[in-house]
Amino acid sequence: MTESSIQRPVVARFCPSPTGNPHVGMARTALFSWAFARHNGGRFVFRIEDTDASRDTEESYDLLVDVMRWLGLDWDEGPDVGGPNGPYRQSERLDVYADVAQRLLDAGLAYQAYDTAEELEERREKARAEGRPSGYDGLHRDLTPEQRAAFEAEGREPVIRFKMPAKDWTFTDLVRGDITFGAENVQDFVIVRANGHPLYTLTNPADDALMGVTHVLRGEDLLSSTPRQIALYEAFAEIGVGDGTTPEFGHFPYVTGAGNRKLSKRDPESNLLGYRDQGFLPEGLLNYLALLGWSIADDRDVFTLDEMVEAFEIGRVNPNPARFDLQKCEAINGSHVRLLSPGEIRDRLVPYFRAAGLVGESLTSDQESLLDAAVPLVHERMSLLTEAVDMLRFLFVSDDEFAIDESDRAKQLDDAGLDVARAAHEALEALGEWTTEAIEGALRAALIEGLGLKPRVAFGPVRVAVTGSRISPPLFESLELLGRETSLRRLAAVS
Ligand code: GLU
Repeated sequence: MTESSIQRPVVARFCPSPTGNPHVGMARTALFSWAFARHNGGRFVFRIEDTDASRDTEESYDLLVDVMRWLGLDWDEGPDVGGPNGPYRQSERLDVYADVAQRLLDAGLAYQAYDTAEELEERREKARAEGRPSGYDGLHRDLTPEQRAAFEAEGREPVIRFKMPAKDWTFTDLVRGDITFGAENVQDFVIVRANGHPLYTLTNPADDALMGVTHVLRGEDLLSSTPRQIALYEAFAEIGVGDGTTPEFGHFPYVTGAGNRKLSKRDPESNLLGYRDQGFLPEGLLNYLALLGWSIADDRDVFTLDEMVEAFEIGRVNPNPARFDLQKCEAINGSHVRLLSPGEIRDRLVPYFRAAGLVGESLTSDQESLLDAAVPLVHERMSLLTEAVDMLRFLFVSDDEFAIDESDRAKQLDDAGLDVARAAHEALEALGEWTTEAIEGALRAALIEGLGLKPRVAFGPVRVAVTGSRISPPLFESLELLGRETSLRRLAAVS
């Protein structure tokens, strides 16, 4: 580490490419970079790497911004926020890359290469057969003006290749320690395509340099691009792109799924938006993602984002693959659900009730009081917000919309169950006062004492008849909230 890099204020970044749905691996990378920036009182840059028009989509861009906002990983520079080194979408920076490429060419640090795909393939095959490294062999490094003119006369369009200095590359990865790539493994590489399009190999380090990034933190899949990027930084120092320093690098471990395979974008548990739809809390999901390679203490799994920021030391990130365990993720989320107050839970639930069509854009005052009264009944019983929606749906639907789960009906409302429902109807119809205690008293008297049933046998059919499901909030409270008329109608409807 040089003196100057110690003294520079930290600038970390997250720079996804907008292809497909945002996935959990991305969120883990964003979280660690963000926590690193915040822990060190630094800046966090959010940049969109959208120079591949064939794969990038506007929809994916919108989802990325949306999901970062949902997670609450705020950025100091980037989309919607701006900043001194914008624009922050690479598709809007093509003139910047053209300029950097030209300066590399002018300084003799890059060159135009005219090889055709067939020629390259033929030489690669030969190198492989002879046991030599099969990367670019540097054939067009030192073409004479006449040779170039001849290729151009043939109509060949050149790519631009960066001249990799012939040396070994060693750096200290903040997560993985010292790493060396031998010179033979990193050959001259393409930075601009024949059609003039700059590649990731150029745009990513150029932007990191121009945006003053001090710490490049990302997934392990990009480890092998690091020597090329370090070489480019050294070239940038010569041509005055950026401030002449090279950032530090840290590569986070792979996230694996079932069978210890690397979690792929296509695995359903990768889909980040799926977590929001299922009712994970952003703080619950982030807490779990933090555990994929990091821990706050040996005996502690549940913590807040502020606590993570306070404690996040990058040197303590474990370089070994981290296994994604959906059950644990749900359990951690459940712990965060229980940390919220009933009022906070209610506010978080409203959008899910709306998405389920159970309430409109704004809640009526009846719906508000119903939700206020119902939240305490389910608070301890759910890990995900959608579970509350499922459990409380019966309170918010009309008779027409009310439906009984068919498998629960088959299990609970057979002939014996229907007898129980009829007896419950009779007992409740005669009840004067509609309170939890009175309802409980009447049902116990009629079903347990009167019919001699065990509680499970007595209350199961009533529960299914009025809530539509065997999984519901506590029964007597549910009946009270549902109200006398509706409860009796539902019991009558099944019997
Ligand atoms: N745009 C790159 C990707 O999504 C990011 C590379 C990096 O973080 O350096 O893979």
